[in-house]
Amino acid sequence: MTGAHNETQNRTSYDVIVIGGGAGGLNAALVLARARRPVAVVDAGEPRNAPAAHMHSFLSRDGVPPLTVLETGRAEVARYGAALVRGRVDEVAPGADGRYLVRLDGGATLTARHVVLATGLRDTLPEIPGVQAMWGKDVHFCPYCHGYEVRDRPIVVLGVHPASAGQALLLRQWSRDVQYVAHDRPLTDEERERMDARGINVFDGPVATLLHEEGRLRAVELADGRTLECSAAFLFPEMTPNDAAFEGLGCEQDEQGWLVTDRAGRTSVPGLWAVGNVVDPRAQAVSAAGMGAAAAFALNHDLVDEEIERDLAAHRARTRADRSSKAHGEPAPAA
Ligand SMILES: Cc1cc2nc3c(=O)[nH]c(=O)nc-3n(C[C@H](O)[C@H](O)[C@H](O)COP(=O)(O)OP(=O)(O)OC[C@H]3O[C@@H](n4cnc5c(N)ncnc54)[C@H](O)[C@@H]3O)c2cc1C
Repeated sequence: MTGAHNETQNRTSYDVIVIGGGAGGLNAALVLARARRPVAVVDAGEPRNAPAAHMHSFLSRDGVPPLTVLETGRAEVARYGAALVRGRVDEVAPGADGRYLVRLDGGATLTARHVVLATGLRDTLPEIPGVQAMWGKDVHFCPYCHGYEVRDRPIVVLGVHPASAGQALLLRQWSRDVQYVAHDRPLTDEERERMDARGINVFDGPVATLLHEEGRLRAVELADGRTLECSAAFLFPEMTPNDAAFEGLGCEQDEQGWLVTDRAGRTSVPGLWAVGNVVDPRAQAVSAAGMGAAAAFALNHDLVDEEIERDLAAHRARTRADRSSKAHGEPAPAA
């Protein structure tokens, strides 16, 4: 990422620093740059959906490769003067005058009045041979992203998470041929009954391996030697927010440890915002982008309010000084 050659490019002090240049961060930066805010996006360049060949369910971008969408987004953001910095933020710390210090892994420090965390989340996949290789290709997690592409095909759901049974039941919407393997988590009687009712065959695990050839999934092999032929598998990964940069700043978290924000993306600490998958694991690319835009609106309003208060205080001080000099018969001070 080189960014635009513009006046914000070489500075170290910004109104806003956005950490993370996925859909959430770039859309926040686009709105802020168009609001004429000096803004920098620091991005490590590893968006969550990078393994997928195509992105879906994003109006007007449906079927476009995820990295192409972000490349287009970066060009749009740069066009309005935002600085695009390739790097990883290690830490955000309080600085002087209510500003924040944003420390990058290479040693550079940038400062900003407000910081938007848009760093996404990490998917931890089960250690089943073949899963990593097929992830984002024929192994998926989100039916709304890739269910349509595998409609009516044989699908195996790997039961590796408390949400796996619900995922299998949901997938019946896309295919009548759904099979479920209880890999390391037995089903409850109620879950088993629901599977029966929806015609989903249940197999006791564990799964031994995913069989694939020339980059395409062929079957799921169980430890007892049975194979379930399929052209797609779904699993629910463990999701962990990439929020280390805000650690120690006192932002409120929920019981599961996820940052809490208001509807606009404000955390409980003034000047710190969070949008996209780092606060909402359910956010798709389009909703992460929407969260970024909503935060940018609210953030710009907060900055404008601060600036009005600052200018009002200065204006009142000038007016007082003016009145006082008039009362003493002195010439008016320069504005
Ligand atoms: C395999 C797969 C396929 C998917 N397919 C679809 C789909 O078809 N349609 C859809 O809508 N959604 C899809 N999703 C979901 C989609 O990936 C997310 O909704 C979207 O990426 C969320 O955007 P984000 O901006 O919150 O985070 P991300 O896109 O993950 O962007 C976060 C960015 O922050 C950077 N970053 C992280 N930490 C730091 C740091 N400390 N300093 C600097 N930068 C940092 C990362 O490198 C990354 O570039 C898919 C997900 C997966 C896993």
